[in-house]
Amino acid sequence: MGALDSGCFEVDLEDGVGWEEEEKENEATDQAASEIEPDADADSMRSIEEAVKVLLQGLGEDHQREGLRRTPQRVAKAFRGGTRGYKQNVKDSVQDALFPESGLNLGIGHGGGAGGLVVVRDINLFSYCESCLLPFSIKCHVGYIPSGGRVVGLSKLSRAADVFARRLQEPKRLASEICAALHSSIKPAGVAVALQCRHMKLPEDHSSDIDSTHSTISVSSRSGDFKEEKSSLWDDFSFLLRLRGVVIEREDTDNSHVYPWCPLRSQELPQSNGHCVRNTKNGKVSSRTAVSQSQASMVTAVSSILRSLGADPLRKELAGTPCRYVQWLLNFKSSNRDFDCGAKEGNVDGTSEMQTALNIPFFSLCEHHLLPFHGVVHIGYLIERGTTPIDQSALRSMVHFFSRKLQVQERLTRQIVEAVHSNFNGGAMVVVEARHNCMISRGIEKVGSNTATMAVLGRFSSDSKVKALFLQTIASNASSAV
Ligand SMILES: [Zn+2]
Ligand SMILES: [Zn+2]
Repeated sequence: MGALDSGCFEVDLEDGVGWEEEEKENEATDQAASEIEPDADADSMRSIEEAVKVLLQGLGEDHQREGLRRTPQRVAKAFRGGTRGYKQNVKDSVQDALFPESGLNLGIGHGGGAGGLVVVRDINLFSYCESCLLPFSIKCHVGYIPSGGRVVGLSKLSRAADVFARRLQEPKRLASEICAALHSSIKPAGVAVALQCRHMKLPEDHSSDIDSTHSTISVSSRSGDFKEEKSSLWDDFSFLLRLRGVVIEREDTDNSHVYPWCPLRSQELPQSNGHCVRNTKNGKVSSRTAVSQSQASMVTAVSSILRSLGADPLRKELAGTPCRYVQWLLNFKSSNRDFDCGAKEGNVDGTSEMQTALNIPFFSLCEHHLLPFHGVVHIGYLIERGTTPIDQSALRSMVHFFSRKLQVQERLTRQIVEAVHSNFNGGAMVVVEARHNCMISRGIEKVGSNTATMAVLGRFSSDSKVKALFLQTIASNASSAV
């Protein structure tokens, strides 16, 4: 079980190099800010860490245990990193990067150089949803028409977009803030901004539809010449995006049907008084007004995190946020009971046969960052010919049981393989393929990257043919969902 013995890959990631450059640059910015108020900065870190300890306690966890000891610090760092845009100023950095470039005079068309459309496409960003504090990923496209014989360094467009993404946000406001800031700092003839946003959501229990783990929306904003009724600039901008397969509607298109876009909000009934009222799958309304003492202190802890980040928890849009975040976390509350998949034990001899259960979806919470990871589990095990295999729904429940708690992928893999093996001791093998939100939000994810773990017990570790057969079965049933 090499994959399991090697410890947690998150440790390596933290020392990784992919995002070091960015971190250094950001630390410089953070330092500049903390030089002004070093004590306030340390205080805010400490108070977020204390609040995270309250959240861990509320989830039935011991924050001193190995694996969770540094979680408060990591979460505090991530929240502060994800909201550092509040301390950053776009204008200065953009205005330092304006370069003279000759172009056509106004009124005679757009001749390229300083006058023609410039578009930067596919800028990858992430932001924190102001309604629930979960991160959402953004593909951002920015276009502008230079004016006054000046062009801007292209990297500044993505830098500026990042400043506004690093705040508690919602897509429409984010698009218009980026647009307005670029317009006022570059002073171009016009700016167009288009965003494609993806927000993680918890699928309905036992849903096999892995695609239901996201909610998506496209929004846009434009200024200056892009707004002119008769101008074809917006069409040109959209065309250049379509070359990349991106279809964006104009921002005046009515997309109110997709609002509220935050999936944790759209599950709610209209708010009454800031309490969490949730519409469950079967239509029953579960009122959570009588929350337990521990939940109440969790909600208070999240409000204090918002304050430490410089946000006002009483701002209208943030009113229900602490409660939603707590409800989300409670999906991963630890439980002390053991799992029993109800299978009969069998002795496996020469007449064993392999059983498989492939592409079982799961959704879990990384215990190092309190961020979701999700994907699929493939299970293979050997039973004596003629023995009844474990019911598929029991295996799904088992995966659900082990994933709905604070986890690391390696442990999840091991716990599932051990549980299967304890019922059929002939041999068991598990492969878990997952996508980690903590990797995305730290900016180190390359498009399409994901993490796979493997664990083998019994005959799967000694018989390479059986192992190869299982891997081949996975390959021929591959799902591209992860
Ligand atoms: Zn949200
Ligand atoms: Zn993590």
